[in-house]
Amino acid sequence: MYHILLVRYGEISLKGRNRRMFEDILISNVKTALQGISIGEISRTFGRIYIETDEWEAAAERLQKVFGIVSLSPVLRTDLDLDSIKDAAVRVMADTNASTFKVETRRPNKAFPMQSPEISRTIGGHVLKNFSHLQVDVHQPDVTLEIEIRREGAYLYSRTIPCLGGLPAGVSGKGLLLLSGGIDSPVAGYLAMKRGVAVEGLHFHSYPFTTERSKEKVMELGRILGQYTGQESFKLWICHFTEVQKAIQKQPYESLRITLMRRFMLRIAAKLAEQQKALAIITGDSLGQVASQTMESIFTINAVTTMPVYRPLIGMDKQEIVDISRQIGTYETSILPYDDCCTVFVPKNPATRPTVEQALEAESGMDVDGLVNEAVALTELVEL
Ligand code: ATP
Ligand code: MG
Repeated sequence: MYHILLVRYGEISLKGRNRRMFEDILISNVKTALQGISIGEISRTFGRIYIETDEWEAAAERLQKVFGIVSLSPVLRTDLDLDSIKDAAVRVMADTNASTFKVETRRPNKAFPMQSPEISRTIGGHVLKNFSHLQVDVHQPDVTLEIEIRREGAYLYSRTIPCLGGLPAGVSGKGLLLLSGGIDSPVAGYLAMKRGVAVEGLHFHSYPFTTERSKEKVMELGRILGQYTGQESFKLWICHFTEVQKAIQKQPYESLRITLMRRFMLRIAAKLAEQQKALAIITGDSLGQVASQTMESIFTINAVTTMPVYRPLIGMDKQEIVDISRQIGTYETSILPYDDCCTVFVPKNPATRPTVEQALEAESGMDVDGLVNEAVALTELVEL
């Protein structure tokens, strides 16, 4: 019965003169998300977007994954005469299971002969006549029947579907996500996307020490994240990390392997980010979770780059991260038991307090620049 979807967006309406640009990106993301669904005109007024569609349920399902949208309402549009509005009001109310309701009217179209309070009263009375179980409650109604009197017709709706909020993907610039096969990094990428970052993934793969299946698992995670990007595909860079791993194996300080591995990952990521004009690296670190995520480890690892490194999970407990990963649909894939390049090379006693001096000493026998340049040159792009 509904043939319009009303899209509400929050924060972006606050951004003053950037507002137009924000709206353009949101609408473009909306259009991409709705590919394959039949939609008609898309219009915007008063900080809202109206999408004409005969498939509002399918459209709503897709738009619930588009950042920047706060909520949706399916809307019934009808002619601008009182009888049509009354009929529409009954149809909209029949679609709820409310016991109490109120009517709220807005009338941007001042040519309509009745004023808003009078419309609300009249329509409210008509609804009461048609549903014996319904009562009016103006303070805490189960349902508010919204009526908008506009030039193109009267718009009626009562349902509000909450969405993700955040900022439209792409308004903030590009970021490079270090995407492992674990639980944490996809969640970190999701949270960066939520704040408008256009996220691309970078995965370090150590074939033949790690299997093709572990790479496919990461590609699947990329595909799931891709549903939230507002883009047609998700870009995943795959870096062949085997030579770096071998060089790290050879240096004499076994307990520093993870520290060194992370330093190489960051160096390679920073170089690729620069080439791709990304403005930040994103990781799934959570403070204190493992040896490489103590404050000392993060300090020593971070020392290799001046590029900002975003760690959206830094203050989260594992359970909070797991909860989000279930919610966004990455959890089931993340827990598949394939090897990661880190698990293969884990030392027996990883250093929990590595210093920059120790790391430099361990790296002194390595051709750091050569290894980094070669790894960057061998990095491949897959579009998922
Ligand atoms: P995750 O669940 O994301 O794998 P984790 O708790 O296992 O995280 P670590 O293995 O210490 O933590 O990794 C910390 C972060 O380093 C990851 O969140 C990810 O951003 C990055 N990282 C680790 N391994 C890889 C990899 N093979 N490719 C790309 N990034 C990686
Ligand atoms: Mg991991």
